[in-house]
Amino acid sequence: MKKIFIYCCMVLSCFCISCGEDFNIFFSIDDEKALGLQVSEEIAADPTEYPILPRSGNEKAYQYVEDIMNAILNSNEVNHKDDFDWELTLINTPTLNAFAAPGGKLFFYTGFLKYATSEAELAGVMAHEIAHSDKRHSTESMAKEMGIAALLGIVAGENAGALAQLASQIAQTGMALKFSRAHEYEADEYSVRYLNSIRSYKEYDPIAILDFFDRMNEENLSEEDGKFEFLRTHPYDANRKENVHKIWQKLGSPTGQKFSAEYAQFKALLP
Ligand SMILES: [Zn+2]
Repeated sequence: MKKIFIYCCMVLSCFCISCGEDFNIFFSIDDEKALGLQVSEEIAADPTEYPILPRSGNEKAYQYVEDIMNAILNSNEVNHKDDFDWELTLINTPTLNAFAAPGGKLFFYTGFLKYATSEAELAGVMAHEIAHSDKRHSTESMAKEMGIAALLGIVAGENAGALAQLASQIAQTGMALKFSRAHEYEADEYSVRYLNSIRSYKEYDPIAILDFFDRMNEENLSEEDGKFEFLRTHPYDANRKENVHKIWQKLGSPTGQKFSAEYAQFKALLP
């Protein structure tokens, strides 16, 4: 039955990947979770490309970032808060990057954590990544790159080659997770919305993601120089800043804190 289903998807995938509603019909939440699990297992199995910071010995660092993730997941604007298996993994390299795999699997590089200057800034970028996963942008990007049939093959355990290819693509080019500009605008919007909606729980500055954009601009980090991997998967343009401001004003220009001192203590925990 699954094979017939996959065949139908092969025929139809070229029509449905451009249409969100059809995409949701062909790729269920359970498929999404299974794909996320397989991608994260593949990543864990490749310590050369992805040297995961072990939890053992780094409990405090993990606790700190997981507390931020769980604070954001308190937002009633996260659709898949309860049905995704949210998990945050730290990769111990100087790479300036973070990415969201399907089904709530988030990956942050220690290089990126050291680059951020406040807890609110990290929360802003983490909320952006949570939005990519929650809005299923990650799966949509992968489907555009590989086709839904290949993704369903991975979920069914019938496409080990495609799974390995997917994991190495994420590592080498980030292409499998390269988001469209529309995805970036939506993830930025929900970064502000999530942080605003949890202010009674944790009063983060809802637009702290702009600190990250501003510093990136000041340092003239570009997609081409290869230093800043984040730009290869998250295309940036000046309108993104304007978009963040608009959403923030629409929400009544809420203010909050940066939690910079706490963040400095956290950074001291990193290897
Ligand atoms: Zn993004």
